[in-house]
Amino acid sequence: MKIKLLFPLAMGFFVFIACNQAQHTHQTGETNVPESGFILTPKKDTIWKIQKSPEDWKSELSELEYHVLREAGTERAFSGEYWDNKKKGTYVCRACDFELFDSKTKFKSGTGWPSFYKPLKKYSVAEKTDSKFGWNRVEILCAKCDGHLGHVFDDGPQPTGLRYCMNSVSLKFIEK
Ligand SMILES: [Zn+2]
Repeated sequence: MKIKLLFPLAMGFFVFIACNQAQHTHQTGETNVPESGFILTPKKDTIWKIQKSPEDWKSELSELEYHVLREAGTERAFSGEYWDNKKKGTYVCRACDFELFDSKTKFKSGTGWPSFYKPLKKYSVAEKTDSKFGWNRVEILCAKCDGHLGHVFDDGPQPTGLRYCMNSVSLKFIEK
């Protein structure tokens, strides 16, 4: 009699555990694998988004690059290559070479991170709400590979009043 009662209980417990694991895997998949799709430019050019597994990104990026670009990390202020770079050129994504910022829009912010008042093109970057530290910030991603670049704040200079606060390690500078 006791065994007959225990069996459904045990089965119920296993189903509960299995469901929880399935849900966890699903959530992890959503966070780590960027959405496929494309970016449509104003001229209707189709730019296909890059989709790679975390293992592929790990094999291509350094440890710090992976941490910042794929895990939304932040490099230490004044530690990166470009916070004080005054040369003329274009900043592209370190992971996928997509063009992101022009040196003409770079300004001295005093923060220790390269700062720009606007992206090269409107479609160069994507925005995402980030509430990691309990308040809402706007995270900036490379539109092509969804790599984390930094955040945007509304205390920048004119003409936009915006400050795109980027990580040097997410960028690569191409001198003109
Ligand atoms: Zn990219």
